[in-house]
Amino acid sequence: MPGIDIHTHAFPDNVADRAVRKLSGMGDWRAIGDGTVDGLIASMDAADLDMAVVCPVATKAGQWKGILKWAKKVRKHHGERLLPLGSLHPKDAAPARAVAKMAEAELPGLKLHPFYQDFCIDDDRVRPLLDAAIEHDLLVVLHCGHDIGFENDPIPDRAGPARIAAVLREQPDLRLLCTHMGGWKMWDDVERTLVGMDVTLETSFCLNHMPPDQMLRMIRRHGVERVCFGTDWPWNDQQAEESALAQIGLDDSELRKLMTSSAARLLKLYE
Ligand SMILES: [Zn+2]
Repeated sequence: MPGIDIHTHAFPDNVADRAVRKLSGMGDWRAIGDGTVDGLIASMDAADLDMAVVCPVATKAGQWKGILKWAKKVRKHHGERLLPLGSLHPKDAAPARAVAKMAEAELPGLKLHPFYQDFCIDDDRVRPLLDAAIEHDLLVVLHCGHDIGFENDPIPDRAGPARIAAVLREQPDLRLLCTHMGGWKMWDDVERTLVGMDVTLETSFCLNHMPPDQMLRMIRRHGVERVCFGTDWPWNDQQAEESALAQIGLDDSELRKLMTSSAARLLKLYE
């Protein structure tokens, strides 16, 4: 089925192999793709997906510049298929300037990862960064819930549903995409806290980790127009995720919305 994958990763060709091997070594999971741009496009072709959002993560201050440069290149060569995001580290000194550069490059948003970037989403130091995203109307894609690579982290709820809900109440204009259905392996909390709030969720790393009836209930209660299809490629197979999603009990119209129009609206593709 045609669609948009709102959560993928790809790396520059010269580091893809090393990056994928390093990340695979962090826990009990393996990449199913090579992590290159060409590999991602081939996977999208096989799964009949039109577009994918690529989510880089700046793991230290200053890295946003290199990521922005790469994102511009990917956009230039593959803009009809791939939408790369920027990223920013909470230790970056001038977040407003960096976010302005991302907006100038017409990137749709930026990615934040509380485990790789060592922050909690409700930290005061993250606020200027979120404010800058609001000012430039950029989407913030946030890793939410536990992380498969950080099983023993001392703060497992760095971006847990309660913290996210508090941030949304403080910054209601924030355009936020919460990955992994609002919080990986914290789904009961998500149902109590985030479901129904003005936030978008995406489906990656959920279909094999929660009961299908809970997934269906969460999607319908939250509203299918605020749930996007995501896979976290190269960590999951796009075609397999698509088939799994098609089997949880959504009707065709719900599935089409979730596969395409939810993301198109969030990314402002058809305005
Ligand atoms: Zn991811």
